[in-house]
Amino acid sequence: MSRVINFNAGPAGLPLPALERARDEFIEFGKSGMSIMEHSHRGKDYEAVHNEAIALLKELLAIPDTHEVLFMQGGAHLQFCTIPMNFLPPGKSADYVITGNWANVAYSEAKKLAALGIGKVNVAATTEVDKKFTRIPKQSELKLDPNATYVHTTSNNTIFGTQFQTFPDTGKVPHICDMSSDFLSRKLDISKFAMIYAGAQKNIGPSGVVVCIMSKALIASGRKDLPKTLTYSVVAENNSLFNTPPTFAIYMVRNVLDWMKKSGGIAQIQKWNEEKGALLYGTLDRMADYYKAPVEKESRSLMNIVFRLPNEGLEEKFVADAKKANMVGIKGHRSVGGIRISAYNAVSVADIKHLCGFMEKFAAENKA
Ligand code: PMP
Repeated sequence: MSRVINFNAGPAGLPLPALERARDEFIEFGKSGMSIMEHSHRGKDYEAVHNEAIALLKELLAIPDTHEVLFMQGGAHLQFCTIPMNFLPPGKSADYVITGNWANVAYSEAKKLAALGIGKVNVAATTEVDKKFTRIPKQSELKLDPNATYVHTTSNNTIFGTQFQTFPDTGKVPHICDMSSDFLSRKLDISKFAMIYAGAQKNIGPSGVVVCIMSKALIASGRKDLPKTLTYSVVAENNSLFNTPPTFAIYMVRNVLDWMKKSGGIAQIQKWNEEKGALLYGTLDRMADYYKAPVEKESRSLMNIVFRLPNEGLEEKFVADAKKANMVGIKGHRSVGGIRISAYNAVSVADIKHLCGFMEKFAAENKA
């Protein structure tokens, strides 16, 4: 068996120790005579895993007692709808900061619901120019309504490769942030957010579960007349066991979080991510006549690094040659083209060094 260097944008590579542990426990979990997948979600074996995953998240991110951890389903997409359903009552409005494709989808989904009769949605800022997003807006550009019920932001723009380096100040208005593509990549002051949500399939585990960190005050303020699975307070009151959760996905989340803790926690993960970013952006900047990185420097993402080669033919060759050098998942999103390196937590500093060496060699051997 030889594993490739996996730069997929999501689902993405998982840390090998988390996979190996799953392999070792796959057929029989502990001495229970069955796989964790075969356990009841109401039994003590699964419940211990579920609670360990929540406890690890609280420990790794220093989540204060004011906040709860919820596991939900339906991907980040369902959160795009559930958030306005719960927190945007008729007569009120919410502000959306548009910094990329996913921020736009969050806004459009909320707008559809607004048309069906909940509150209104406003664009507080957009950095779109010619269908592209190459920067994060400054605080001074945000038109924030002090009476909005929430402000929605997207911390990392998975497709265009931008990332908030400092989060906007939303004043007294609850800040809700989609962190699907950079959750657990750096330290956070959780108390500054009313809600953080993230689909698991980048830094947290396999697809199938969404982690939500929510302030208890926000949960309490939500609607209570929605169907139960769409009501945050019902999910919270039942420790995310109101209906059958994706037990195997949550088990894998536990394995990934345990790997993170044993690796030195968020501080170490952040250090590795900064080192990876310095190496890769350093290579791009040094070879700027060949590789073009379109994102404004202050807005550069450490998770998704995008760049172009002198022409599309060379980009195709770059992808093919990278595969021969054991690297996959580097083609840019179909809507923008080019190259995208997703350097999530499971990608090591050594993987990025391998890539940078390849980039130097490719540029020397493939003149424009
Ligand atoms: N938000 C962001 C920032 C994303 O990167 C993605 C998926 N790549 C989504 C939302 C959508 O996630 P899902 O497919 O889990 O609904």
